[in-house]
Amino acid sequence: MRTDHAQKDTTRREIIMTHDISRRHFLKAAAAGALGVAALGLSGCGAAAPAESTANPAPIPDAWDLETDVLIIGGGGTGVAAAVEAAESGARTLVIEKTSIMGGSTIMSGGMMMAAGTHWQQELADCGDDTAEDLYQYYMGCYGEVADPELVKDMAYSSADEIAWAEDCGIQYVTCFAVKDVPGYSQYIKPRIHLPGDGTTGTAGIPGLGWLHVNPIWARAEAAGAEIKLNCPAAGLIVDGNGAVIGAEADDNGTRIMIKANRGVVLATSGFDHNEEMAKALSSSQYVALTSANGSLVGSAVGNTGDGIRMGMAVGAGLAGIGGALNVSLNGNIGRDPTSNLGGPTTGITVNKYGQRFVNEWTQYGYYMRACFSQDGHICYTVTDQNAVDREGGLAMGFSTDDLSAEVASGAVIKADTIAELAQAAGIDAQGLQQTLDTWNADAANGVDQAFGKTEGCNPIETGPFYAARVLTYNLGSLGGLKINLDAQVCRFDGTPIERLFAGGLCTGGWCGTFYPGSGTAVMSTVHWGRKAGRNAAAQQSWS
Ligand SMILES: Cc1cc2nc3c(=O)[nH]c(=O)nc-3n(C[C@H](O)[C@H](O)[C@H](O)COP(=O)(O)OP(=O)(O)OC[C@H]3O[C@@H](n4cnc5c(N)ncnc54)[C@H](O)[C@@H]3O)c2cc1C
Repeated sequence: MRTDHAQKDTTRREIIMTHDISRRHFLKAAAAGALGVAALGLSGCGAAAPAESTANPAPIPDAWDLETDVLIIGGGGTGVAAAVEAAESGARTLVIEKTSIMGGSTIMSGGMMMAAGTHWQQELADCGDDTAEDLYQYYMGCYGEVADPELVKDMAYSSADEIAWAEDCGIQYVTCFAVKDVPGYSQYIKPRIHLPGDGTTGTAGIPGLGWLHVNPIWARAEAAGAEIKLNCPAAGLIVDGNGAVIGAEADDNGTRIMIKANRGVVLATSGFDHNEEMAKALSSSQYVALTSANGSLVGSAVGNTGDGIRMGMAVGAGLAGIGGALNVSLNGNIGRDPTSNLGGPTTGITVNKYGQRFVNEWTQYGYYMRACFSQDGHICYTVTDQNAVDREGGLAMGFSTDDLSAEVASGAVIKADTIAELAQAAGIDAQGLQQTLDTWNADAANGVDQAFGKTEGCNPIETGPFYAARVLTYNLGSLGGLKINLDAQVCRFDGTPIERLFAGGLCTGGWCGTFYPGSGTAVMSTVHWGRKAGRNAAAQQSWS
């Protein structure tokens, strides 16, 4: 029996709307935090001209407009985690945030964190033994040669402690679930994705629970004395004669200011999600998601334009882990219970423009999307039949409607009476598609997908009318960024650290490869590297 998908499931539009809602959740706390900056007693005396966002280093000023011990650039997940550690170390801590609200992509996210060896896994998922080593092995299987094994291991082995710290901040978890299969690495997969909840939220609106993660952490930072300035984008770092970072230039609501950082600066500005030029140079999958006119979306915070990466590079930083993107399939994961963490459609198949299958569709979304991106012209379609639509409603194609009439009318879904007509309308090779379906239907009759080992949803596709929908990307940001070491110090390509400069989260790279291994990895990186960055910046001797 068909369920009421329109009511039960999160639609694409709702997902986008939850971004706004979750950001509003944070507004009050952030506005309150902004008031505290006056307590530094140095604000508002800069020149009137707004700073340009060149990312070039600024000259050392004759006079500073603001002074702090630790300056954190970016008020998202990494920024708030860094702020807790810096402020609790006794350092005066100032966060400057480019936009009018805090939280960045983190507050728009599900707030999920991936960790191994927590008590939540036992209580919520009855998961049996799980080890940091298995998480590390899983990560390395996904990342290949691009990642830095030391950084990956450090994050995996600290993951349970970071969850304990989050719990100490007041974050509770309501579900632990596993990524879908990554062929070759199934043995390392366990229910590790910790979904936050406050007893009033279910799993249906996962994108939007990020405030359950960000708010308690920022509350703790504020309680320790951290302060924030909104509408204050950093424009460039300030270095002394030895190349140590001693402050930053920023645009404080239209006024150029120079901020002195006595101990250190933390870059927490996330990736180059919305910067076309950087995406084109550094990540073709980010660039295609950003520029394609086919309905793909970039759903991350609009302030994330690679500023911190460019600021770091301008003072000599190297890059690491470049080349990937955090891509989810609009046709797969979105539109059904998001804990499915799925790549492709439930029952249909995915083919390229030659009509050929190339991946097990019932796999983890990062794995699936990488395979889709590798196809000629990045052109892929999910294909299914009327039986699937009768069974599943619009979800058969990843839409949250009872049937697909609206999507067919809008052109988002192609419907045709025969496979040949479907192929022609979609621009797929008809002969290739028919051959693929012949094989698929024979395998489905035997319940074994001999080509790719798909074990779920092996239903024949043989009852017209037939449906095809282009695989579209829901991009959650770029992957890869500044090169860091185990202390979250920003490093040059040769590995030497840049004095007093720290970074964490998605403006850094090396802890992740070009293929995103699953929900919870990015937010974990903000906590793990953000905390280290804040703590180690605060531990520097004051230079002034
Ligand atoms: C809808 C959605 C759902 C997601 N769900 C999950 C999930 O459940 N689990 C998971 O692990 N990952 C998830 N992700 C990915 C994850 O949320 C992000 O990759 C991660 O939170 C980014 O954290 P960050 O601290 O690096 O950056 P952000 O949290 O984005 O913060 C960066 C901040 O820096 C600010 N900034 C940028 N430039 C400047 C500047 N020049 N000066 C001052 N400030 C600046 C930005 O405005 C922004 O506020 C999701 C992403 C999205 C979009």
